[in-house]
Amino acid sequence: MENIEILFDEVKINERVKVLAKELYEKYGEDEVVFICTLKGAVFFACDLLKNYKGDARMEFLRVSSYHGTETTGKIELNLSISKENIQGKHVVIIEDIVDTGHTLAFLNEYISDMQPATLEICTLLDKKIKRVVDIDPTYSGFVVDDLFVIGYGLDYDQKYRNLPYIGVLKKTKKISK
Ligand code: 5GP
Repeated sequence: MENIEILFDEVKINERVKVLAKELYEKYGEDEVVFICTLKGAVFFACDLLKNYKGDARMEFLRVSSYHGTETTGKIELNLSISKENIQGKHVVIIEDIVDTGHTLAFLNEYISDMQPATLEICTLLDKKIKRVVDIDPTYSGFVVDDLFVIGYGLDYDQKYRNLPYIGVLKKTKKISK
């Protein structure tokens, strides 16, 4: 694939995902956990995480969007919802692809908290800590990234590149002036 610098390759991602799955199992043991995958970006991460999770897991899906191109629109849209009966009184883990400003996570946190789960934690693959404007932190995080627009392993640039098995950044191409 052209002009992509790899930040985390498949091996590194797999190793980290296994560690996170183990940490989650150490926390919940045999208690049932509802894992909420946020579409579309977290889908690869959620599948790999749950394939490595040894406990009793349920899966739910939420669809949220806030980005167009490489810019956040600041407005969070919820396009797929969850019913309260699937959350109330249960241990819940939100699985995110990347936490940037924190607006999406704060929105999701409030949306799920209102359904009164027994416990609620957040597990993100990537954490762009440096960009945070909302005071919210994931409990579990795969990798911390700098202020870069990353793609691959579920993450897109205008719906492209999600199928890359690694996480990378698009390199800037020099414009040739004639
Ligand atoms: P936040 O609300 O924290 O600013 O943004 C979170 C959402 O923005 C993520 O779930 C993801 O969809 C998108 N996002 C933030 N940073 C990046 C990035 O570097 N690459 C991609 N592809 N999406 C990003």
